Amino acid sequence: MADNHLSTAEMQALDAAHHLHPFTDSAALNKKGARIITRAEGVYLTDSEGQTLLDGMSGLWCVNIGYGRAELAEAAKRQMLQLPYYNTFFQTSHPPVLELAARIAELTPGDLDHVFFAGSGSEANDTNLRMVRHYWASMGKPEKTYVIARKNAYHGSTMGGGSLGGMAGIHAQGGLPIPGIVHINQPHWYAEVDDLTPEEFGLQRARELEAEIDRLGEHRVAAFIAEPIQGAGGVIIPPTTYWPEIQRICDEREILLIVDEVITGFGRTGKWFGSEYYGLRPDILTIAKGLSSGYLPIGGSVVNNKVAEGLAAGGEFAHGYTFSGHPVAAAVALENLRILDEEGIVPKVEAETAPYLAKRWAELGDHPLVGEARSLGMLGALELSPDKANRFKFAADEGTVGYLGRENAFANGLVMRHVGDKMIIAPPLVITPSEIDELVEKAALVLDLTLAQAKDQGLMVAA
Ligand SMILES: *Cc1c(COP(=O)(O)O)cnc(C)c1O
Repeated sequence: MADNHLSTAEMQALDAAHHLHPFTDSAALNKKGARIITRAEGVYLTDSEGQTLLDGMSGLWCVNIGYGRAELAEAAKRQMLQLPYYNTFFQTSHPPVLELAARIAELTPGDLDHVFFAGSGSEANDTNLRMVRHYWASMGKPEKTYVIARKNAYHGSTMGGGSLGGMAGIHAQGGLPIPGIVHINQPHWYAEVDDLTPEEFGLQRARELEAEIDRLGEHRVAAFIAEPIQGAGGVIIPPTTYWPEIQRICDEREILLIVDEVITGFGRTGKWFGSEYYGLRPDILTIAKGLSSGYLPIGGSVVNNKVAEGLAAGGEFAHGYTFSGHPVAAAVALENLRILDEEGIVPKVEAETAPYLAKRWAELGDHPLVGEARSLGMLGALELSPDKANRFKFAADEGTVGYLGRENAFANGLVMRHVGDKMIIAPPLVITPSEIDELVEKAALVLDLTLAQAKDQGLMVAA
C-alpha cells in the first residue's frame, strides 16, 4: 500500500470490474491487472508498489513542464473559488478565457490571432472539420468540403478526429472514416522507400497533395491537415524537403492548411510551435496537450485573420462545447504558459537539452536491434529491426517485439511507448542532462533485454 487505503490487488480488481480503458484490450489487461500510478514529481512517476519510473512520454506527450508544479494547483484553486464555471455562449466571456486567447495569439506565429476553445485535441479537430466547411460556405463556395489528410496520421479518436487521422485500426471500427476525407501517403522515409534519397522522397510525398487536389478538383477541396512531426504514428520526422513543398502547394492552391500541433506545440521542437521550426504559415493550428501541460483538459483551434473574417461573414457558427474555454482550465493553461516563458524552458530545450538528447539518443543507433535512431527536439524513436543493415521488418506480427520492449522498459523503471516495432519517447521539456543520461542508459538496457528475448523466442527473423 502506498498512498491509498486500498492494496494494489484491490485497486486492480476494481479497475478490472468497472473501468474501461482507452485503446486497450480489456480481456488481456484484466488478466494481468493495470499498473497503478499514484504520484509524480518532476520527470518521475511512482506506482502503487512504490516503484519509481522515469516518464519518457510526458504522460501522453503533454506534461511539458513536468509534474508537481504547485503554482498550477494554486491557479486552479484561486479560479475555482472566484468563478469555477461559466460558459462563453450567449455573448458572455470571463477573464481567464480572454487572457488565454490573447496570450496564445501572442505566442503563435503570424496572424494566428483568434482561438476557438475545446476540451481536447480530438474536439478541436472536430471543430476544424466543421469550421473549414463553414468558412468556405460563408465565402460562397459550399462545394469546397473535402479534407485531405494522411495515412498513419493521428488527429484524435472522435468521429471527426478519427476520420481525419489515418490509422487503419481506428478506421476498422465504427464506420470510419466519415465521407469527405481522403488520405495521401505519409513521408516515412525509413519504412517506405529504398531507392530514393530522403530529399527526393520528401518532394515525391509532398507532391501527392498536389495530385490529390487535381484528382478531386480544387473547387471541391477545403483543407489539408497534418502534424509537423507525426507523433502517435511513431515520431515520423519528415525529410527536410517535405514541408517547404507542402507550403508551396498550399500557397498556390485555394485550400486551407491545418497544422495539428497538439504534440509539437508549446516547446516540444525547441521552438514554441512546430510551424516555426518548419517555417509554416497555417490557416488553422490545433492545440491541446502541452497547452496546460496536461494539468487540466483544454484544447483549441487557433485561426488566422482570413479565416476569422470569413467565419464572421457567415453569421452564427452553430458549434461549441459546454466546456469551451473552461475558466479553471484556462487559468491553469495561462499559469503553465507563464512558467514555460519565464523559466526560459523552450530556448533551453533548443540550445541545451535537445542537442544533448540528440547526441545520446543517436548512440542507440549502434545497437544490433536498432535500424534507425532519430530525434528532434524532445521527441525520439528507435526503429527495431531483425536486420538493421537492410532495414527489414520482423516476420512476426507487427508490434510483437515492440511490446516486449515496452514491458522491459516498465519493468526497469522507464516509460517508453511502442508503436508497432518502434520505441518512442517524448520526455518532459524540463528533463535535465543527467536525467537524459539515465533515460538513455535504461533504454540501452531495455534493448539488450529485448534482443535476448527476441532471440530466445525465434523472433529475429526478417519478413
Ligand atoms: C493526442 C492528439 C490529438 C487528440 O488529442 P486528445 O486530447 O487526445 O483528444 C490530436 N492530434 C494529435 C497530433 C495528437 O497527438
